[in-house]
Parts: sequence; C-alpha cells; structure tokens
Amino acid sequence: MQEGRPLDFMRARLQALREAQLHRRLRPELGSSEPWLERDGRRLLNLSSNNYLGLATHPALKAAASQASERYGCGSGSSRLIAGSSDLHAELERRLAHFKGSESALLFNSGYVANVGVITALVGPGDLILSDALNHASIIDGCRLSRATCKVYPHNDSDTVARLLAEARSSGQYRTILVVTDSVFSMDGDIAPLGDLIALCRQYGALLLVDEAHATGCLGPGGRGLLAAVACDDEGVIAVGTLSKALGSFGAFVAGPALLTDYLVNVARPFIFTTALPPPVIAASLAALTLLEEQPVLVERLQANAAYLRRGLQALGFNTLTSSTHIVPVLVGDAGLALKMAARLQDYGVLAVAIRPPTVPAGMARIRASVMAVHERSDLDFALEAFERVGHELELLR
Ligand SMILES: *Cc1c(COP(=O)(O)O)cnc(C)c1O
Repeated sequence: MQEGRPLDFMRARLQALREAQLHRRLRPELGSSEPWLERDGRRLLNLSSNNYLGLATHPALKAAASQASERYGCGSGSSRLIAGSSDLHAELERRLAHFKGSESALLFNSGYVANVGVITALVGPGDLILSDALNHASIIDGCRLSRATCKVYPHNDSDTVARLLAEARSSGQYRTILVVTDSVFSMDGDIAPLGDLIALCRQYGALLLVDEAHATGCLGPGGRGLLAAVACDDEGVIAVGTLSKALGSFGAFVAGPALLTDYLVNVARPFIFTTALPPPVIAASLAALTLLEEQPVLVERLQANAAYLRRGLQALGFNTLTSSTHIVPVLVGDAGLALKMAARLQDYGVLAVAIRPPTVPAGMARIRASVMAVHERSDLDFALEAFERVGHELELLR
C-alpha cells in the first residue's frame, strides 16, 4: 500500500519550488497592457508588457473587435477545416503574407501552438533539428514532440551550426534538417545571426525556421521583422510571428511559400484539431496591421525608447548582457536577489519582473525590462531613478 494522500507529489514539488525561491503565483492586475498599470491599488510603471506599441488598448482595435462581434459573434464555432474559416481569416492571411513579403501565410491560435504545429509538421523520426540554446519554450516543446533528433547549439554560434550541418550531411543519417532560432531572444533581447544561418542552410540544403515573436511590429523595415531586414526569399526559410505582442491582439501566423501553407493545412495537427480564432480577435489583428502600415513611427519610437533605457542602465553600471532591442535584461545572478530587486523596484513604483530558472540558466537570474512605444521620456527617467536607488540598496552598484 502506498502511504499518504494522492496529491502528495504536488505538495512536495511545490514545496521544493518554494525552497528554491522559484515558486510563482498569479495575481490580478488592472490595465496589464497599459504603460502604467495598477496592482494592489498602486500605480506602477509597466516594464513587463509585450504590448510594445500600445495597440492592445488602441481605439481602432477596440472598435474593430466590437464591430466584428456584432457582425460575426464571439466564437468561430468550429475548426478552420470544418466550418470556422471566415472571410476575415482569409483577409488577415492575405494581409500577413503581404506584410511579411511572402507568397502565403497561415494563422495559428497562438505563437506557442504555431511553433509546435510547424516543427512537428516539418520533421519527425529520421530527421535532425539544430536548435539555439536560448530558443523559446514553445520551440523546445515542438522539437520534443516531433521525435526528430535534436541538437542544441550554443547561443548564436553559427560556427557550431556550420560544423553540425557538415557532420550531419556527410553522415548521410538524416533526411530533412531544420535549423530553428528566435530572431529576437525573449530573455536576452539580442538578435540571431540570420544572414549566416540563411547562407548555411542554403549551402547544406537545410530548412530555417525563424520565430519573429518579439520582432514582429518591432524591428525591420516598418516593423516587418528581421527576415525582412535581410531580404531573404529562399523557399526553405519559414517565419513564425505572433499577433499577441506588438500587434496587441491574439493568435499567430506562419509565412512562407503557398506550398508550405497548403502542407500545414493538411498536416499540422495543432492547426487541424482546434477551433478557429474568434472573429473579434481577427478584426483587431487586421486593425493593428493597418495602424502599423499607417504609422511606422510607432516602431521608431519603440526603438528610441529602448535605446534610451538600455544606455541609461548601462551608464548606471548595470549589466544588460548582449541586448540590442526593446527587451533589456539587467543581470542579477541569484534568483532570490532578483526577486528582492523586483520587489524593491515595485516599492519605488516600477513593475519589472524577476526572471528565474528554469526560464533562464541557473546563476543568470535577472530583471527583464521591456519598453513600450507609448512610454514617455519622463517614464523612462522615473524607471532609471528607481533602478539606481535599488542598485545601491542591494549593493549591485558601486
Ligand atoms: C511569446 C513567444 C511565443 C508564444 O507566442 P504566443 O502568441 O504568446 O503564444 C513564441 N515564441 C517566442 C519567441 C515568444 O516570445
């Protein structure tokens, strides 16, 4: 007979997380996507939102969503292949293909689902994946689910990618080879060497999957992402992007040749076996794309704010790792200390969360600050002042 109660394994796991300072909990926020939000009745500068352009609360998106709910209702009612595919879905896919400069685009219900769906559709047993060590969890899960052989290469190390590709091809062991990378890394805020990776994949006949979750709406010409910046039209280069971050809505997409989207519609289980995105969400995404095309200055404002905060933190003496984008990590090291820093920042009116293992490697706990295009200079000065005070209090700064 087993001793104890049926859920004791949960109690033990949660207790272990608490002891390692890694336990998390949910809390209700008010205005979580606004540049300032309210927590426990206090106003906090929001440096923790992926609503980078402030579009989630934009009047044009709200109006589009409410009009679509009047006309189409709130739910799609079935999967795309059954009867859930409306003219709105088709229009958004056309617009996304145009936005990405690709022949075709296909919606998925979230970025997480897109990565799992695309990777498992592209590769399987007998195939090889080369995956960057800092790739997003959804890519890691897609690799695991695919049952392909997966080799993780050191972060942004294209020399190792070259060596692994050469070895894999000369071994004759693998059919399809897929190289997969974030374009902007979500915890370090640095960018992938896309030019090198594209050339290598071309040389060795490998596919390249680029996750533009944090680049879409943020980087590249008109916010079209980093692939657009390297002007690549290789058939074997596939982009994933999300509508839930800078575009202020929800859902995600894959962009590439029409052959690819036809294939995914028929093969990608996370596309096939789920209800189509709701019409109000699609309408909001369409409105966001229109705004972005009309106001590319939003992208410039985001990157100007990012540079201001990053340089300000560096000038104070903080280590912002290799960030060159709107995601600005402040390295602390110890998970407990990172938590203490986040709590003190909050005391001074700044919400910037502590990121701890397993999201980042042990000993690399940090504060992750991200800016929005709609933050004012005075907001960023307010943040820098709080960082300076906390940095001295916790003896992170000399
Ligand atoms: C946020 C994120 C995702 C997941 O996107 P959702 O639309 O939120 O599911 C995927 N990849 C990366 C790199 C991300 O940062």
